[in-house]
Amino acid sequence: MQFRNFKMVDYVVYGRGAFNQLDEILAPRRKGDFPMIFFLDHFFVGKPLASRIPLRGKDKIVYVDVTHEPKTKQVDALAAELKSEFGEISGVIGIGGGSAMDLAKAVSLMMTNPGSSADYQGWDLVKQAGVYKVGIPTLSGTGAEVSRTTVLTGPVRKLGMNSDFTPFDQIVLDPELTKDAPANQRFYTGMDCYIHCIESLEGTFLNEFSKSYGEKALELCRKVFVEKDKWDDECDDQLMMASYAGGMSIAYSQVGVAHAVSYGLSFLLGTKHGIGNCIVMNHLEEYYPAGVKEFKYMVAKNNIEIPTGICANLTEAQFDSMIDVSLGMKPLWENALGKDWEKIMTREKLRTLYAKL
Ligand code: NAD
Ligand code: ZN
Repeated sequence: MQFRNFKMVDYVVYGRGAFNQLDEILAPRRKGDFPMIFFLDHFFVGKPLASRIPLRGKDKIVYVDVTHEPKTKQVDALAAELKSEFGEISGVIGIGGGSAMDLAKAVSLMMTNPGSSADYQGWDLVKQAGVYKVGIPTLSGTGAEVSRTTVLTGPVRKLGMNSDFTPFDQIVLDPELTKDAPANQRFYTGMDCYIHCIESLEGTFLNEFSKSYGEKALELCRKVFVEKDKWDDECDDQLMMASYAGGMSIAYSQVGVAHAVSYGLSFLLGTKHGIGNCIVMNHLEEYYPAGVKEFKYMVAKNNIEIPTGICANLTEAQFDSMIDVSLGMKPLWENALGKDWEKIMTREKLRTLYAKL
């Protein structure tokens, strides 16, 4: 038996207003006059958060376009621009949802590793530590702040750069930053966490480590999406810790059916991660009966619309391509259905599931 020896985030600061400590946190990490680069989610253009960023010397804010989920081409271009403008940089700080944080992780790695980020999509292909990197979530749910991956869509696959060099050196968890997220977006990203918990807790890879974090995260998701009638500051506090704990839970287990199927949607149709997971979860009674029932309750209670009919006009070739991407996620299927998953989740069965979405 080989147990995973996993690398965690080095430093964590949590609390309302923790963002104000950023200047102090970055100071000892500055290398001469090489700049800190702040990747700020483009949602914050002209918003007060932009003027709170502690710029020094040649530091720069780069507004990152997260209309689409991060692509290897986008990462390569960002890294190339920084190299040509500054040569070296002191660090990258990703401020935003999972997309902005993933861009920061990937660009940090591409400042020191040769070639294209597409060369490193997979497990443990990254060979050099990146530059110093900090993650600051403004949406809660993905767990990207704690994970050892950065999910990228490349020319041939949608797959993360999974490595011990990928986790952030520092994260700043300040629930104030999620305050103004629109209810729909907050729900979709929050459900990513809920689904992480269900997939981890119902999976065959489950162990006490994952279970302790998964149960806590699930409890916090329920507090905000089931028990509360009106969103308040406490909900922001709780969902931020749910995201963290949900991420820790899957770090030592794996996600499952909703993620495996949703990866196919996002590769072919560009469906975003949070909403894609919800579209799939809506039809997974067979695999997660209790979780799906509660999911539907939360959808109704929070007045959220989950799109349907998104696969209605697809060609056979398009179904095939989604099925290929999805069945490629072997560890996810094995976690969900056990070692004999290939006998259970046949191409025909998956084709039927996609057709329902
Ligand atoms: P996102 O980062 O894609 O952002 C969604 C939208 O919300 C964007 O339009 C963004 O501008 C906006 N936004 C962000 N913060 C906001 C705020 N405070 N108020 C209002 N709008 C705000 O959404 P997400 O669900 O956080 O992240 C999804 C991404 O995370 C996907 O790219 C997915 O692949 C990735 N992901 C990564 C991991 C990982 O472990 N690395 C895990 C899960 C998902
Ligand atoms: Zn997820």
